[in-house]
Amino acid sequence: MKTSLTGIKPTATPHLGNYLGAIRPALKLAERFHTFYFIADYHALTTVRDPADMQRYVYDVAATWIAAGLDPDKTVLFRQSAVPEVFELAWVLGCLINTGQLERGHAYKDFLAKNEGHKPNAGVTYYPVLMAADILLYDTDVVPIGKDQKQHLELTRDVAERVNHVFGGGDPILVVPEAIIGDAPLVPGLDGEKMSKSRGNAIPLFAPAKKLRKTIMRIETGSEPLEAPKDPESSTVWQLCRQLTPAVADEMADKLRAGGYGWGHAKQDFFEALDHELGPMRETYQELRADEEQLDLFLASGAERARNRARNTMMRVREATGIRRPLSDLRRTVEIKK
Ligand code: AMP
Repeated sequence: MKTSLTGIKPTATPHLGNYLGAIRPALKLAERFHTFYFIADYHALTTVRDPADMQRYVYDVAATWIAAGLDPDKTVLFRQSAVPEVFELAWVLGCLINTGQLERGHAYKDFLAKNEGHKPNAGVTYYPVLMAADILLYDTDVVPIGKDQKQHLELTRDVAERVNHVFGGGDPILVVPEAIIGDAPLVPGLDGEKMSKSRGNAIPLFAPAKKLRKTIMRIETGSEPLEAPKDPESSTVWQLCRQLTPAVADEMADKLRAGGYGWGHAKQDFFEALDHELGPMRETYQELRADEEQLDLFLASGAERARNRARNTMMRVREATGIRRPLSDLRRTVEIKK
C-alpha cells in the first residue's frame, strides 16, 4: 500500500474550513493509503510565540482529527518534533538546495510583500527545506496538496532527485513523491470571503449547538423578502451546505428557487445538517480534549512508528553521503578483528 503524508500546523483551533477543506478529504484518503499525519509544531514556531498556545493547539488539533474519525491504529499520527531525524535530513537537503530557490518560495515572497523593508526570520526562509524533509523522511509516495503548495512539492521532488543523482550512484536513496492536487473550492466564511481565523469569519467546529446556531445565523445573505425566488449559487449559506452535504443542498436550491423560503429557513436547514454531522464528533472531541494524557499516548505510539521509518531513511542517507561508513563495512571490520 502506498504512503500518503499530510502535515497540520497547530496555529489555531480548527474551524469548519479546515474540516471541509482538509480534514474530511484526508480521512477519506486513509481508506486507500497508508497515512502518515503529523502535527507540524516546529513549523508553527515561525509564528506562534506563546508556549501555552503551542501546547493548547497541538492537543486541539490531535483531538479534532481523532474525533473527526482518524483511527490512530491505522493512521500514524505524530508530532513533527518527536522525530528529530527530520532536522538532520533538512540539513542534508539544505546543502543541495540553492538559496535562490528559497527566495522564490511563496511564504518568503509573501512576507516581503506584506512587510516592506523587513526580511523574514530564517525559519520562514527555510520552511520549504524542512517541509521537503518532512515528506522525504517517511518514504512518502503521495502528498495531497492545494494548488498553492505545488511549488513546495516541486522543490521536494527536485531535491530528492538531486540526492539520488549525486549520492545514489544509480540506486534511489529517497522516494520521489507525487502530488495529488485537490480541486475542491475554498470554503467561504460568514462574510463570503475565504474562511479563516484571522479574518474573524470562521465557523468554529466544535462549539456547543446553541453557539453554532447563533454563528450560522450571522452568515451574510441578500435581503429579498420571504416570498421572492432566490439564487442559491451566489449565496454563502448554500455554498457551505453544498460542501457539507450535496443532497441537502439540492433540496435547499429547489426551495430557494421556488420562493416562500427565506434565508433564515436556509440557515436553519444548514445548521441542522451541520449539527447532524458534527454533533457526535463534538462529544468525542470534548472527552478527548479533557484527557491530554490519552492524547499523549496516541501521539507517542504514532511517533514510535514514524521514527522507525525515519531511522531507516537516515541510515541510507548517512551511508550514501559518507557521514557514516556503510554497515557492511563495519561488519567486515568486526569480523577481521575477531
Ligand atoms: P491553515 O491553518 O489556514 O493553514 O489551514 C490548514 C488547512 O486547512 C489548509 O491547508 C487548507 O487545506 C484547509 N483550509 C483552511 N481554510 C480553508 C478554507 N477556507 N477552505 C478550504 N480549505 C481550507
